[in-house]
Amino acid sequence: MKHRACLLKEFSKPLVIEEVQTPTLKPYEVLIKVLAAGVCHSDLHLWLGDFIPQGLPKKLPIVLSHEVVGEVVDVGEGVPSSFRRGVKVLVYPWQYVEEDQLTIKGFTQLARKRLRLGIDVDGGLQEYLISNYKFLVSIEGIEDIPALAPLGCAALTTYRAVKKARTFVEPDDYVVLIGLGGLGSYAAQWIKLLIPYSRLVGVDVRDEAIEFVSKITNVDVVVNASKEDPTKVLNELTSGLGVKAVIDLV
Ligand SMILES: [Zn+2]
Repeated sequence: MKHRACLLKEFSKPLVIEEVQTPTLKPYEVLIKVLAAGVCHSDLHLWLGDFIPQGLPKKLPIVLSHEVVGEVVDVGEGVPSSFRRGVKVLVYPWQYVEEDQLTIKGFTQLARKRLRLGIDVDGGLQEYLISNYKFLVSIEGIEDIPALAPLGCAALTTYRAVKKARTFVEPDDYVVLIGLGGLGSYAAQWIKLLIPYSRLVGVDVRDEAIEFVSKITNVDVVVNASKEDPTKVLNELTSGLGVKAVIDLV
């Protein structure tokens, strides 16, 4: 079987759509028809060749995108019935070959043998993708499929930061969030969900970003840093005591 894929063949040159061979399923693997794939700022860096000094991408040509949702169309041996044909899934992008001391503790980003989608191996800008079933999350029942794609990157990145901040934030402490764009819009929601007893201060220089995040979640204090000095505002708010946590996404 063949399918179409969008290939990065040369840095900073247009991606090329070509027919590629669809890999055959091995045990525990699932063939996924891609329904939506996001483009992250890291994809732009990969495309420009900014990560060449770090040896990335691991291969060329490569299919970019690590933010993928799709539908199960075929399953290999040993895949549980919960991932039968027709089930819609979010693909966890920070994949690896085998468990090691770090993956077992949840630090999958530090896995010894990484298979990160769109970075080490082909990602989501193609019609079909193969993944081990253990990296799939069922999204059955959720209607807005494309909106789920960034959950594997932007939402997870900020989830980790907010979870760490939560350990030392007490009731009524201020948490400052700098940058209310793609990552910030997730971080603001995580702060309200995971540290609901804190007070959220959102800082950005763009009115449209401040407006968007204020619309999707309850930001207690907003500061447009192009119009007022955030340090002065925070000193006044806390009577000079300062804040407990600052999450800088810029
Ligand atoms: Zn990303």
